[in-house]
Amino acid sequence: MSVENLVPYEEALASYDPVMGLEVHVELGTKTKMFCGCSTELGAEPNTQTCPTCLGLPGSLPVVNAIGVESAIKIGLALNCEIAEWCRFARKNYFYPDMPKNFQTSQYDEPIAFNGYLDVQLEDGETFRVEIERAHMEEDTGKSSHVGGATGRIHGATHSLLDYNRAGIPLIEIVTKPIEGAGSRAPEVAKAYVAELRELIKALGVSEARMDKGQMRCDVNLSLRPNGTEKFGTRSETKNVNSLRSVERAARFEIQRHAALLNDGRTVVQETRHFHEDNGTTTSGRIKDNAEDYRYFPEPDLVPIAPSREWVEELRAGLPELPRVRRARLQAEWDLSDKDMQSVLNAGAVEPIQLTIAAGAPADQARKWWMGELARRANETGTDLAEQPITPVQVARVCTLVAEGKLNDKLARQVIEAVLAGEGEPDAVVEQRGLAVVSDDSALGAAVDQAIAENEAIAAKIRDGKVAAVGALVGAVMKATRGQADAARVKDLILERLGVQA
Ligand code: ADP
Ligand code: MG
Ligand code: ZN
Repeated sequence: MSVENLVPYEEALASYDPVMGLEVHVELGTKTKMFCGCSTELGAEPNTQTCPTCLGLPGSLPVVNAIGVESAIKIGLALNCEIAEWCRFARKNYFYPDMPKNFQTSQYDEPIAFNGYLDVQLEDGETFRVEIERAHMEEDTGKSSHVGGATGRIHGATHSLLDYNRAGIPLIEIVTKPIEGAGSRAPEVAKAYVAELRELIKALGVSEARMDKGQMRCDVNLSLRPNGTEKFGTRSETKNVNSLRSVERAARFEIQRHAALLNDGRTVVQETRHFHEDNGTTTSGRIKDNAEDYRYFPEPDLVPIAPSREWVEELRAGLPELPRVRRARLQAEWDLSDKDMQSVLNAGAVEPIQLTIAAGAPADQARKWWMGELARRANETGTDLAEQPITPVQVARVCTLVAEGKLNDKLARQVIEAVLAGEGEPDAVVEQRGLAVVSDDSALGAAVDQAIAENEAIAAKIRDGKVAAVGALVGAVMKATRGQADAARVKDLILERLGVQA
């Protein structure tokens, strides 16, 4: 279906009610894989982090990573889930070249965590409760690269390369119950849910949850039913969506696409789909298998997991401050109104601001840069604020230079732009571009004298006691020094020259 045939969004919502299901995979930050001792470090030479177990060689036996189980329980608890007293792993059988065992060790009908919920905050401050079906443990696959074609896809490639370093890295899959009642806000709910989940995972310290690095990815299931009806429609499942913005766009596109099919009296096929970042559309993947096709069965090589209640309670007691609670605390600490805090949240600026303050910047300065220059840039480029090529430490350094009077706002803005453009650390930029505020009297003197000479009428007024007129002369000096003069010092110098008390 081409983009032209889509039903306009509002029109689709006038006839249909969207139901969503979100499946999020999180790669845990454990040092070793889920069922063997291989390293999980990213960026190693292909196939250097493998062993007989994660390569599925005959006779090898898996052993469960205790930190993996602990992380799963923490996630379950933070999602208000019940934790299984006893559960097992299961084999999910299917063939995929990047999965050497020919089955994925996963959990099926006995997940470690189930029946929870996550409250997410929408852009207008309203809270929406997303119910969690389950969170289960599984393992990642390897990675294939298709070589020789123009697009890097399998079509047109001459051969494929396989890297099993990622095979066996622990994953937690978190699956929602069908999300109903969001109406036209369904795409927003999807985005807010993934954002909240990401914050939660990071707060727990179990993963960095970087979507741009594939450490967290979301499958968006979506179906439509005619308004006022109960029965769910057929869902499509858009796989591996890897940014918050894409989650929202994918849901929106699928609503419009499903509506077009249904309006035409056609049926929606239950299939997986791929999302395309460049044009915001999805295309068909494969016809979706049913659970029966995977021939799940309990994993015979692993003992069941039976976390004691004492251990679970110990983990619950040790949970860190969770994002919702932390946000309320920060709002109070930063002294923001509900509305200001909401804009900080909407901009995804909580974390960057917090890290900038932790690196030594005053709260108002940190907020000013992230919510001003940087938020504008993120908006323009359609990227997440946290993914701008500047670190909180660098922003904090700029704030410090401003506080020390070495930069004024205008210069600070130029330094930030230069850092974003890849020119290096703030101090290096100041040095290379000669951006420091000039407060040295001998350097400013000539510009001050010139401004007075060129604006005799104003100078005369000031001499007569109209001190407020000094602003015009300060402005002239600032202009002559291309904004680099220390404005406060310039003012003093002018008044001094004109023999007036400030
Ligand atoms: P699968 O493994 O086939 O993707 P899951 O049950 O793991 O199936 O996940 C399906 C997700 O989609 C769940 O979040 C579920 O709540 C949701 N879901 C199920 N049926 C529908 C439907 N008809 N429309 C929208 N979402 C659905
Ligand atoms: Mg699925
Ligand atoms: Zn291994």
